[in-house]
Amino acid sequence: MSRYLGALREAFLALPPQTPQDTIQERLEEIRAASGLEEALDCLHRWELAAGYITREKLEDVERLEFPDPDAGLTFRLQVNYARTRYSDAQEKERQAQATVPGFDPVPDGPQPCLLCRHNVGSPGKESLRVFELDLDGRGRRFFFQLTPFPLYPYHFVPVLSEHTPQLLSSRSLEDMFALLALAPGYAALSNSDVEWAGASILSHLHFQMLRGLRLPVLEARAVPGASRPIPGGRAELLDYPLASFRFSGTRAQALRAGAGALLEKWKSLGPGRNTVNLNMVRAPGADQGSAPGFQLVVLLRNPDYRTPERLRPFKSEGVGVVEASGEAILPVPRGPEAQEMWRVIREEGLGLVKSLIAGNSPPMPSALTRELLDCAAEAAGAAG
Ligand SMILES: [Zn+2]
Repeated sequence: MSRYLGALREAFLALPPQTPQDTIQERLEEIRAASGLEEALDCLHRWELAAGYITREKLEDVERLEFPDPDAGLTFRLQVNYARTRYSDAQEKERQAQATVPGFDPVPDGPQPCLLCRHNVGSPGKESLRVFELDLDGRGRRFFFQLTPFPLYPYHFVPVLSEHTPQLLSSRSLEDMFALLALAPGYAALSNSDVEWAGASILSHLHFQMLRGLRLPVLEARAVPGASRPIPGGRAELLDYPLASFRFSGTRAQALRAGAGALLEKWKSLGPGRNTVNLNMVRAPGADQGSAPGFQLVVLLRNPDYRTPERLRPFKSEGVGVVEASGEAILPVPRGPEAQEMWRVIREEGLGLVKSLIAGNSPPMPSALTRELLDCAAEAAGAAG
């Protein structure tokens, strides 16, 4: 680290919790200019820990389990997240606190103040929330990064579109995600969907999730034999996985973006307002040493007709989002008279539990539909080549 960068970091981390947002933005811009977005995000994470917006307790108050699945050739995961168990209660409290502030200006078109808009910076309950805004594509598409107060892992950021715009999954989402990963290649970029009960989180405001170094199980899934197409610089394939998922891997961003975008739009067009997707994308090393680093992008198909099976609702009554669909179940702490038996199932039958939870949320994928989607993706990728 250069002495200049070291001094910038030190000065930033010494800023007190009540530092105005404008100052945070200016200082992080300097750090980004000196050493890139990942360095700026690292500083913001450390600063928010010191300011108490995120806490070690929240990061560590999690029980994590792993379940190797020799049949699938991957390891499913499960976390019982104590801090997140209180998430809904906390959100409700925030809304109530904000509603009592005189002159508080909620989002004009909604009865509830938006949980993601910039007015949350420094608001009651989020006094030390600060964000870092940037122009994603150099053409005025602005996002600001904030930390989620209830992280699934350390370095769990939410890039939020600066303009209050509803969540919408489209080819544009892929452009945004490629641009995000170009700026922060060590992160995973994830997206929840735009349909309630089909892998959505907050529908009212467009956002992604970015987690440093996160590789979720679905990325390691095998391809279904025969359900694969070559695309320029890589492959598109249906995965042998409990939830209908397609993986695009390769070195040519343009081909991957076009192929995955065509599949996304095709799937949505087959069930307007119901069919949607979750997205999970990482940078991956190129196939050969010295070649351009590649990408892995998984498109997980969702539809609200397919939800968590009734018998599993005691474990998980909320919807299943992108992290869970990607192979890591996030369960609240078991409570009530059945708690002991639920813990036994989690510990002893966790693999079956996680896979059933994911499978229940999968739309059926007959082979004719697989072919149609793969053909459409391969054609678009080939044209973009
Ligand atoms: Zn908003």
